Amino acid sequence: MDEAFNQAKQRVDELITILDRYSYEYYVLDQPTIADSEYDKLYQELLKLEEAYPTLVQQNSPTQRVGGTLLPGFEKVEHDLPMLSLDNAFDLEGLRAFDQRVRQLVDGEVEYQCELKMDGLAVSLKYEEGRLMQAVTRGDGRVGENVTGNVRTIKAVPLTLKQPVTIEARGEIYMPKSSFIKLNSDREEQGEDVFANPRNAAAGTLRNLDPRVTASRNLNIFLYSMVQYGTLEIETQSQALSTLNDLGLRTNPERAVFQSIEDVWSYVEEYQEKRANLPYEIDGIVIKVNHFDRQEQAGYTVKAPRWAIAYKFPAEESRTVVNEIEWSVGRTGVVTPTAIMNPVQLAGTTVQRASLHNVDLIKERDIRLHDTVFVRKAGDIIPEVIRVDFEARPENSEPCQIPTHCPACSSELVHLEDEVALRCVNPKCPAQAKERLIHFVSRNAMNIDGLGEKIVIQLFERQLVKDVSDLYGLTKEQLMTLDKIADKSADNLLQSIEASKTNSLERLLFGLGIKHVGSKAARLLAEKYETIDTLKTAELEDIQSIEGIGEIIAESVAAFFELEAANELISKLKSFGVNTTYTGVKPEERSTVESVFNGKTVVITGKLEHFKRNELKESLTLLGANVTGSISKNTDILIAGADAGSKLTKAQELDIPIWNEEQLLEEIPD
Ligand code: NAD
Repeated sequence: MDEAFNQAKQRVDELITILDRYSYEYYVLDQPTIADSEYDKLYQELLKLEEAYPTLVQQNSPTQRVGGTLLPGFEKVEHDLPMLSLDNAFDLEGLRAFDQRVRQLVDGEVEYQCELKMDGLAVSLKYEEGRLMQAVTRGDGRVGENVTGNVRTIKAVPLTLKQPVTIEARGEIYMPKSSFIKLNSDREEQGEDVFANPRNAAAGTLRNLDPRVTASRNLNIFLYSMVQYGTLEIETQSQALSTLNDLGLRTNPERAVFQSIEDVWSYVEEYQEKRANLPYEIDGIVIKVNHFDRQEQAGYTVKAPRWAIAYKFPAEESRTVVNEIEWSVGRTGVVTPTAIMNPVQLAGTTVQRASLHNVDLIKERDIRLHDTVFVRKAGDIIPEVIRVDFEARPENSEPCQIPTHCPACSSELVHLEDEVALRCVNPKCPAQAKERLIHFVSRNAMNIDGLGEKIVIQLFERQLVKDVSDLYGLTKEQLMTLDKIADKSADNLLQSIEASKTNSLERLLFGLGIKHVGSKAARLLAEKYETIDTLKTAELEDIQSIEGIGEIIAESVAAFFELEAANELISKLKSFGVNTTYTGVKPEERSTVESVFNGKTVVITGKLEHFKRNELKESLTLLGANVTGSISKNTDILIAGADAGSKLTKAQELDIPIWNEEQLLEEIPD
């Protein structure tokens, strides 16, 4: 046997071993250790070697099977028709080659349906006579996991279709970028491992054995194919998509049909630009032969259809140098490292800071001071250090020094057994107190206008405030001693502080920063118990029985009210006249639909493409929103369509969250 063949054989074995390991980390642990683009490079190398030496193709090669592995704990279900993967293209040449292959395989004209390649995980939904009967993951393509219980918690999945048809539809379950950011920052705050990207977060959430976890994390879905359609007559992929939509299933409105591959390429380029502004992550464009009869002619390989291809966007990475590793203390005492780097351009913005999340990550990636590193945006949004360029490492480099003492109060840090985080457990740590106050005054908590981070820092430094209740004892004279606070601004601030006293209980509960109690849990607790004193004396089992509140939250609430310091704080707040009663609308008097718009003041402006303004207003009102005509500091959300004018400018000035139609579609499918 010749030398080249032997070398190829050895490399093929090596590649199969590493790709298998990466697949295990990606599909089973939901914790990839390399970027998808690097995985793809190794995969392409294997594919090329196998093409050059067909006798080296092994049955267990990743090129011969669909990647996923099944998790224990879920019932296994065999798919009626396999759920395949997609072949990839990385440039225009790759797309042209695909186009040529297709045109050789099929008779007549070819047109292509282009769809966004959602970066989530595939599921199959079976409806019988219009009722959702089963939801199964792709798994290894032949057998998947029965995740019906979890899928039923996803609001965008209808339990009943608009027609009593028997169909199997397939689509991608994903986590919107905003939910991913929130989930990761909550996890970091709680000392838990963060998810590498929205795809892994979605997979970890959907394949969680507790449906309450799935329900709490705001997953969404786009359906993209129908493989069994009963009595419906469908001849093309475009028709399948519009039929899915008509049946009440959510499809992505961003799609288009083209006759030539050159036009497909323009579409690819267009979305490469638009991608960063979409509310969800995409990793490419899927191109499918539109007519089903032609799809049949093109056929399938063992792993993927020959009538479709996924164009993968190139990875956006930049190289820079770490100048400092900063350690900061959060409100629950978690000490988080951040890399401060030479500024670099990345996916349209200048990046200078990247969270390193925890000590384990620093050790695993061996990130050191003065290292040259590669950065990218996880899920297109959060800057992340992916690896060190070891060749560029300075000679005298030393492993990163892990602090043993709190950078704020110098007390000894602890590394709890079940956590990845380092924690400062000193309840009097000033950094934690400062973070707690920043949280207390924030928008979704007590919403105290004008009390920004800079003022909070000064209040602490000058010892005017030691805990959140001290805010309510502040005088005008004290406020005027702070930098940049004059007569008028001191009055305004006092007014905002005073106004916050009448907030409904859920804001206070969220603001107190009880571990695991987010704004949604706070609302559920406030609605059920109505006063803080009733909640304080509630039995653990009773708290746990609230739908949406699990064991972990209930235990944390009970533990909080057992703390002497917590009770003292509540008494102090009461003595200042802070309201501790629920004043919102009772659930039974409200729309029964769970919605992010509940209780929110919303303004609509600009030209809308997907919605009629009056209908939108009605839908929002039904979802519990108060739709008003002008922007004020009480506005919670501005929905801005095309050509929005002064309302948009005013909302930007007031830092009011601005939603585009895409974001709206996430919450209200049209
Ligand atoms: P894929 O993700 O490249 O493509 C197939 C999948 O695309 C489908 O199963 C479906 O889930 C999805 N999809 C999204 N939008 C779609 C649409 N509109 N129509 C049809 N399908 C759509 O293939 P794969 O087999 O799921 O995964 C392989 C990829 O996973 C690799 O290319 C790599 O990027 C990544 N991976 C990464 C690692 C790692 O360690 N980083 C390990 C293994 C795999």
